This record gives sequence, structure tokens and C-alpha cells, in this order.
Amino acid sequence: MSKVVIKECKEYDVSQIYQRLKEALESLGGIENIITKEEKILLKPNFMAAREPEKVVTTHPAIFEAVVKYLRDMGYSKIYYGDSPGTGAPLKASRVTGTYEVAEKYDIPLLEFRKGKTVTFEDGVFARQFEIAQGALEVDAIINLPKMKSHGFMRITGATKNIFGCVYGFNKGISHTKFQDPYEFAGMIADLNRLLKPRLHIMDGIIAMEGNGPGSGTPVAMNTLLISQDSIALDSTFARLIDLDINYVPIIIKGTEMGVGVSEDHEIELLGDSLEKMLNRSFDVERLPVKDERVSFDGKIKPFKNLLLRKPVINKKLCIKCGICVESCPLEEKALTFSGELGKSFPKYDYNKCIRCYCCQEMCPKEAIDVKTPLLGKLLVYRD
Ligand code: SF4
Ligand code: SF4
Repeated sequence: MSKVVIKECKEYDVSQIYQRLKEALESLGGIENIITKEEKILLKPNFMAAREPEKVVTTHPAIFEAVVKYLRDMGYSKIYYGDSPGTGAPLKASRVTGTYEVAEKYDIPLLEFRKGKTVTFEDGVFARQFEIAQGALEVDAIINLPKMKSHGFMRITGATKNIFGCVYGFNKGISHTKFQDPYEFAGMIADLNRLLKPRLHIMDGIIAMEGNGPGSGTPVAMNTLLISQDSIALDSTFARLIDLDINYVPIIIKGTEMGVGVSEDHEIELLGDSLEKMLNRSFDVERLPVKDERVSFDGKIKPFKNLLLRKPVINKKLCIKCGICVESCPLEEKALTFSGELGKSFPKYDYNKCIRCYCCQEMCPKEAIDVKTPLLGKLLVYRD
């Protein structure tokens, strides 16, 4: 059995979050049974992109502050933080997300997440090598601080996926080219979690993101904190909170198969507030199975694939022609290019090359890229 604590919390108020966190950790048996005071701790927020807290792309700084304050009060002194954004420098992301100010106040150093080294993982099922950020390698224990969000590629993103930020820089994009099938990508993420073994997960679901996540969705009040030592149990609880079939979430499927955690109802002990009370059945998320689109590419639907497969689409009314999406495309021969000069024309997709990784959609600063599922695809491809 794994335990997941659900705590109702309606505001980004540090003392309120602190209190909920304290209660949650006590019901899990105490933080001292999870991490010793001698250990060096990495707080790993979600810094997907340098966006302000109200955009709900990143972990709110009040969560970060409550965790830091609680650890300090419990006698922990070796506290650090860091994450590698999709593009741009970690320091910039830290400043824009509001984390930097809190870290300065409590004297919490930002570890090195711009460079790292190749780590071999002999037990890897899908991946035996990772480019891990130096900061993640320097610590003894990781406390993961994910954000509750919808996700075009993976349906939802939560605790297990958030560990992907321990892979530094553009290596994350390269992983998308190596693991194009969503289930293989999820398997790689599961391997990464098996390698780094984060000890505790505290999910920011006070104001979550629904719709066009993980970078361009809409804020939605879920008023929830989820706390667990098991990332898969936590992500499964997130899925249940939004009434999403856990079988539509590749990371839950692979993480369960590969022993990262458990996902079935009878294997998870829920503590704290009731799931029914916090349930949001209308949470806007793609309620369709995830398909191996690479198989679809190579299979018999190939001639019609662009009429059938989900794809990123640019909203020209919002696009400012900045080129970040082009820069984010991990393919050597980009699937998204400018037909003319940078800043003068809209980027254009070559859907025959596009591997549907949605890095471009994640990184667009203007929320100008939507992932659309053609009607024919809904009828013929994305169904049970
Ligand atoms: S990142 Fe967004 S705003 Fe910038 S060019 Fe691409 S679609 Fe347009
Ligand atoms: S165009 Fe976008 S979705 Fe397609 S491969 Fe490039 S980044 Fe991925």
C-alpha cells in the first residue's frame, strides 16, 4: 500500500500551506523518517519556462516557501533548489517564477542545472544513459514540487514527469527524438525516476492548469495539495480527482509496470480530505487514449495521417513571430521553420516530419499553439 495525502488549501498563503503540509507529513510518519537531517536536499520545483506565477505554468513560490520554512523549523539546514527549464537559464526562470526572491530570503542556493554529466543506469529498461544536471547529482535526497497540469502529449503532467527537469538543457528535447512513442517516452521517465529515486512529492494543485497544458492552458482552482512518497500513486490520485481514466496516462501505466509505484485504488491509502470533496469532473483534459502515433506514421494510415493524427496548430492572432517554437523543435531537420525572415512571417509546420512531441507548444510564450485532434482521428484513431 502507498499513502497519498489530499489536503484542501484554497489560497497561496504560506502559513496555510505550512499547516497542511505539517499535518500531511505527520500522517505519513514524519519527515525525519523520510530524510535525515544530515542529508543534502534538493527542492525540485517545476520551472518549465520563465513564466509569472499567475500563468500557472510553474510551481507557485508560496509552496516553495512553505516547504523551506517547514524544513528549517524541523532542523534541516542543507537545503538547495534547482530545475532545468525547456529553454533559457534556470536563474531567469527562478526570478520570473518568484522563487528566487524566496530563496534569497531564506538563503537557499540555486544549484547548477545548466550543465551536468552522462550517468549510466545499467538497470534501465528503456534508457540506460541520462544527461543529469550537476545539481541533481550533488544531493542526497530530492523533494519534488510538481505542478498539477494537463499535458498535450501525456494527458497530465504531475510528480513522475516533473523529475525530467533533472535532465539538463536541450538533452530533454533530444530525448523526445529518441523516445517518440509516448509509451517509450513514459518508460524513459520511469527509468529516470528509478535512477534518481525522489523521496517525497508535494504537488501544487491549488490553482492548476487545464486545457492546452502544460504551457498554454487555463488556470483552474483545484484547491488541493497532494503529498506522497509514491509519485505514481500521487499521479493516479490526480487523475482520479479529475475523473480521468488512469489507463489514458502512459506515465502511470509504465511507472506501475516498472515498479516506480502503484496505481490501483486498492493499493493506495488516501489520507486527509476526501477525494469526492475535491473531485472536478469537468477538468478540461483530453479524455482519449494515447496512441503510438509512430506506428500510425509507418502503418497503413500513412497517406491520411495529417487528417487523422493530433497536431500542433499556430493561432496567428496570438503569434508574435518570436521563433521560440522553431528553436524548441528537437529534430535536427526541424519540422517547424520560418518561410521568410525571422520576425516577419509566421512559422510553418511540416506535419510529415513532425513527431508530435509538442515541445513547440510547451515553449510558446504567447499561448499561440494549440494541439488539435481532427474529428476523423477522434472517430478512427483515438478510441479504446
Ligand atoms: S513561439 Fe509562439 S509566438 Fe513565438 S513564433 Fe512560435 S507560435 Fe509564434
Ligand atoms: S514541430 Fe513541434 S511537435 Fe513537431 S516535432 Fe517539432 S517541436 Fe515537436
